[in-house]
Order: sequence, then C-alpha cells, then structure tokens
Amino acid sequence: MLEHNKHVADLLASSNEADRAEGQRFLDNPPAELMAEAERMHDAIPESDRPRHDAHLSIYGAADSQTGTVISEDQFTLCWLAWSRYGKTIQELVAGDKAGHEKSSKQLASVTKDYNDWRYGKLDPNKLRSKFDYNHLTVMRCGLDLGMETLNEEDLANCFDETCTCGATHDGEKLRKLRARTTKMIKRLQKALSLPLS
Ligand SMILES: [Zn+2]
Repeated sequence: MLEHNKHVADLLASSNEADRAEGQRFLDNPPAELMAEAERMHDAIPESDRPRHDAHLSIYGAADSQTGTVISEDQFTLCWLAWSRYGKTIQELVAGDKAGHEKSSKQLASVTKDYNDWRYGKLDPNKLRSKFDYNHLTVMRCGLDLGMETLNEEDLANCFDETCTCGATHDGEKLRKLRARTTKMIKRLQKALSLPLS
C-alpha cells in the first residue's frame, strides 16, 4: 500500500502529462484491489495490536467506526491539525480549554484558526501538510502497524527512503524521535480509551 502511494506520488510529480493524469486517476479512484487490500490488512491486525489501531482511529473521532467508514474531510482536517501540531486530540484540547488550562485554550485557538483558514480557502492544504510533516507522520502511522516499532535508526531511515514520497534523504535520529512521540501519544490515547465514559 505504501508502495502504491509512492507510485502515485511519482506519477503526480512526473514531467510527463500522461503520467500526471494517471496519477490523478489513481487518486480519484483508488483501485479496487487496493481497497480490498486495505480491508484485509485491517482484518489481519493481530488482536494484541487492535488497541493501538483503535487508539489511532480515536485521533479522528472514529474509534467506534466500522471498517470502511469514511469520515468527512472537515472532521479529518480539524482532528489531524490538533494531532500533528500538538500531539493532542481535538477532544483533549476542548476538554482542557473547558477546564481552564490556558495552554489548551491557546492551542485550541491556534488549531481553530488554521482550520478556518483552510475552510475558507486561505490556506493551501498541501502547504499545511508539508508544514506539519504530513508525509512522515503518515508513513510512521502505517509503519507502526507493520513492524517499524523495533527498527534501529539506520533501518528506519532506509525504510523511509523506500516508502516515503517527500523526496528527501531521511535522518534516522529524527525519525526515531518522531516514532517516540507517536508511540507515546498512542499509549496515552489507549489509556484514555480504556477509562469508563463519564
Ligand atoms: Zn520523507
């Protein structure tokens, strides 16, 4: 699946117009095999890894969703902004703001501003994405389900060189830190999820 993403990105970046058109077609209509593969991968996640997977979905408010549920782009963007900027869920920021934590209020205001700029076309989503290292978060997130958790810095960098679409050479140390940050946040979410709802 990551290879497919890279293939599409290469096509989109191609100087050949037919290649770019094909890349766009892939983006608009992901191949049926790929969708089926995504379902199989979802079903193949071992029981022990499910909590992590669910925790990750909860970033987007989708923890209880059935396989194949599509969340709206609006919801995705808002949730994703909070996560990629501050490593918090939007629910955590809202709760902190309500409880009177000044830091949460400031973070929520800043996320809301970017979200509205994006909504009203004042912020290009692609610029937004590169600003917050969208590529690396995406690859890391998928990678954690596929065994990236135990790789050393060098293997981590090699793995990103093979699958990431950013075109840069990857720094193992930075990636290790990103992995630590991602793992820590997922653990906190898992803990939050296991608490009874009040
Ligand atoms: Zn990259």
